[in-house]
Formats: sequence, structure tokens, C-alpha cells
Amino acid sequence: MPDTLVTTPSSAFLGKLRAIVGDKGMVEDAQARAFHQTDWRGLTMGQAAAVVKPATVEEVSAILALCSEHGVKIVPQGGLTGLVGASIPVRGGDEIVVSLARMNRILDVNATAYTMTVEAGVVLQTIQETATAHDRYFPISLGAQGSCMIGGNLSTNAGGATVLHYGNTRSMVLGLEVVLPDGRIWNGLRALKKDNTGYDLKNLFVGAEGTLGVITKAVLKIFPKPKDVATAWLAVPEPKAALEVLAGARIAADDNVTSCELVHELGLDGIIEHIPGTQRPLQGRHTWQVLMEWSSTRPIPEDGESGMRPRMETYLAECMEKGLVEDAVIAQNEAQARAFWHIRESHAEAGRHAGPAVSFDISVAVEKIPSFIEACNAAAVHAAPGVRPRPMGHMGDGNLHYNFSAPVDVKDRAQFAPTVKILDRVVHDMVAKFDGSISAEHGIGSAKLLELEHYRSQTELDVMRAIKKALDPQGIMNPGKVIRVDPAESAQEGSLMR
Ligand SMILES: Cc1cc2nc3c(=O)[nH]c(=O)nc-3n(C[C@H](O)[C@H](O)[C@H](O)COP(=O)(O)OP(=O)(O)OC[C@H]3O[C@@H](n4cnc5c(N)ncnc54)[C@H](O)[C@@H]3O)c2cc1C
Repeated sequence: MPDTLVTTPSSAFLGKLRAIVGDKGMVEDAQARAFHQTDWRGLTMGQAAAVVKPATVEEVSAILALCSEHGVKIVPQGGLTGLVGASIPVRGGDEIVVSLARMNRILDVNATAYTMTVEAGVVLQTIQETATAHDRYFPISLGAQGSCMIGGNLSTNAGGATVLHYGNTRSMVLGLEVVLPDGRIWNGLRALKKDNTGYDLKNLFVGAEGTLGVITKAVLKIFPKPKDVATAWLAVPEPKAALEVLAGARIAADDNVTSCELVHELGLDGIIEHIPGTQRPLQGRHTWQVLMEWSSTRPIPEDGESGMRPRMETYLAECMEKGLVEDAVIAQNEAQARAFWHIRESHAEAGRHAGPAVSFDISVAVEKIPSFIEACNAAAVHAAPGVRPRPMGHMGDGNLHYNFSAPVDVKDRAQFAPTVKILDRVVHDMVAKFDGSISAEHGIGSAKLLELEHYRSQTELDVMRAIKKALDPQGIMNPGKVIRVDPAESAQEGSLMR
């Protein structure tokens, strides 16, 4: 929703911007500009006064100093795969988009120290591949990894499929370089595991969604490469059984369960229908399914018994005897394991092609997942008859992508909109009742800004506003995202974004 005070920067200002980044750093082609103004789902079209692609931290610094001097607002951008409208200029044309895409160099890989130093515009998959080339592993893994950038992953504190074992992106960071809203460069690019020198500044910028500064470089942790991996697709009678299977698996696998993802049959239907080349891993229909992976950094033992796959077989056979698993298949090779993961990672893409739907990114304590699903499904279907819940996601982290398809007779998003509003309140109220979070991994952006104000305590909001004001007193960094310092600022009605 555009602010009434939108004033586009002058041509003199734009000239100074060009002088900083050069012609190569100005994005002027209409199609390219449209890309930088549209969210991944294609639901939010923004408008920017200019789109720039700086090539160095000095250029980022000069851009921010210039914007600060003129009170011009900035939207930092990575790969534009965020799902809460945080990287889109939503104010109506007075913002400068600063894309980090040209700052895409791997600066250092230290296999002995298990660190990698990168610029913010490196694509996540490139970081994974670089680690692999050094017989190391970078565990952050998500469906958007071919396009999202590490600066975006850090700024959203992205989670993904391996948080259960390795933690989220925050856990991967040793040091950061950040340009502050006034243009000063904070060099916190230290590779220190221990550093108790006052407040931990880097953690302020992780998950800040570009509202406190621009991340330009990072020192990341890398890990030993898993050598022995077992991947299974299971059918379980109910979510409670999935939780029990996970709890036992942690012991059976010597705490090497790296992923545990819940899949709902209706979500799987959408993937098989819309994503070419996918097929059901199991025969028949099963409402609740699980993708589970165990991985060890030990090479596959030659005894044929103590490796991950035989141990998983033994464990799943025990689970079947107990009635916790109805059917299961263990990937026989890497290609089959990839096919399982392709299904899991295609949920968001399939959602783009399916009919009207809404998705919530919530978390509750892991042990509450089954009771949450039961209570939330019942409340949602009662409040919005005909909606079809299909919760799925990172069950091992207590994080569900709680999706609802519209009733079968509802054919477009506009018709579904009033129901989405009802579901917003039902789902988020239930999350509050279960002491959970209304954003587990996607962030707040513009889509959940009002929800954050609704559900977080006054004390929490006061502290967040104080931090924002201290670092960005002019309010030029990604306005209208995460937190409003002044409640009179415009805010998007969020639910349709998701
Ligand atoms: C198919 C798909 C699957 C996904 N799966 C997951 C998942 O499993 N787990 C998960 O957590 N998320 C997931 N996401 C969403 C996730 O947030 C993003 O994919 C990713 O972390 C964002 O990176 P990006 O480079 O695209 O950032 P963008 O979308 O460009 O930006 C995201 C936010 O970060 C800010 N930002 C970007 N770069 C910088 C920077 N250098 N400095 C300061 N601020 C910056 C932007 O202003 C914005 O607020 C998925 C998205 C898609 C499309």
C-alpha cells in the first residue's frame, strides 16, 4: 500500500547514484527492472525509483551514505526468493533497490579451519558446491538454493531441511561485514568461535530482513562431508507416530538424523500433478508421509551391517512391527534419494500452479506437533467450512508449512480472500495458544508486519523499535518491513502475500 508521502528522488540524485555504480551497475532494461520489483510468487508488484547493482563494499557504502544524506529509502535484495514480501519496494516508487547480485565472489575456503568467506551475492548452491569441491559440506539446503543468495539467507535466517542436525543460517555464521544505514562499514569479518566482547552485533543483522543495514560479506562455518547417507520415504498412520519414529531414530542412528520432513497426501497430489518427472515413492494413498535422512561423516563400513542404510532398515522394520510405520522405501542410490528430495523441495513450486491456497509458516515445540495439527485442523475447518488443510514441513524442527487449499468450488484468489483472513486469525491464535511462533523461518517482511504487532508483547516491540531507531534513525532501511517505528506508517494487509 503506497505511503501518501512518497516523493521520488530527483534526477540529480539519480545522477550521483550512477556516478557511484557506473552504467554497468544501473539496471535500466524494463524486463530486468520488473524482475527486481516482483516477488517470487508473482503476487506483489512493487515500484522502485532505481535498481542498482554495486560491485564492491565501497560502492554499497557510498550508495547508503548518499541515500542517508538525502533521506532516500533502500531495499536490499538477494535472489528475490523470500516468501513474505521483504525484498520488494512496496511504497510506490521512492525506494532504491540495492541488489547484491554482482558481489558474488568466494573469497576464501579454509578446509583446515572449516571456514568459507564469501560475498553476500553468492548463490547458496554455489557455496554448497564449493564446499563439496573441498571435501567439505555446507548444510543449509532449501528448494530455492539455485537462486537465493547467502546475504538473503542470512537476512532471513533461513532454515531448510537440515536444521534438525546443524541449526539454521544463524548457526553458520562466524563473522559479518555490514554497511550501516549512514554508509559506515562495520568490519566484523572475524573467524572466531569464541568472542564475548560485548553485544553480539552480527546476530542483530542476521534475520533483520535488511532493516538495519546491508550485509556485504560473511565468514561461514563448513563441516565434514557426509559419506554414508540413508534416505527413506515412509507412510505413518498419524503425526504422533512420525514423532515417535523420529525420537527412536535419533538413538538408532547415533544422533545422525539430519532431516525429518512431514508430507501430506494432498500436497503430494499437487506435486505429482504440476511438477514434471515426479512420481509417488510409495504405492497407494497415505495421508501422512515422512522423508527422513540419516548421514554420517564416516565412510560406508565394509562389514555390510554397521552403515547407515542397514541400520535404518533394521530400525524401520522394528517400527513397522510396532505399527508406527505402515510402509517404507529406502533409496537404493543417490539418484533415488535426489528424487525423494526433489518431491519435498517442489512443494512451493507446485503451490504456484495449483488453485487458490494460503500457507502459514509456523512453529511449536516439537512434541506439540501432533496435538497442534489436530486442534488447528478442527478449528480451521469449523471456521472456514470446505477448506482443505495439508500441513507439511520441517517436522523435526517443530516447523510446519501449514497450507490450506480453498474449498473445491472456490476458483480464484479474490473469492478466497475473506476466508484467508479468517484463517489468519484461527491459525495464528492457535499458534499463540501453543506458545509457538507465527514465523518459523520465512521472516516477517511486509506480509506479517501487522501480525507481529498483534502477537508480540509490548516489551518485545519496544526493544525491537529501540534497536531499529538506534541503527536507522531516519528509517531509510527497507521501510514497511518487520517493524514499524511509527504506527502511522502504512502497512500491507499481509495474508494474501502467502
Ligand atoms: C521454493 C522455495 C523454497 C524455500 N524454502 C525455504 C526453506 O526451506 N527454509 C527457509 O527458511 N526459507 C525458504 N524459502 C524462503 C527463503 O527465505 C529464501 O529462499 C531465502 O533465504 C531468501 O534469500 P534471497 O537471496 O532470495 O533473499 P531475498 O528474497 O532477495 O531477500 C530476503 C530478505 O533479505 C533482505 N536481504 C537480502 N540480501 C540482503 C543483504 N545482503 N543485506 C541485507 N538484507 C538483505 C531483503 O531485503 C529481504 O528482506 C524458500 C523459498 C522458495 C522460493
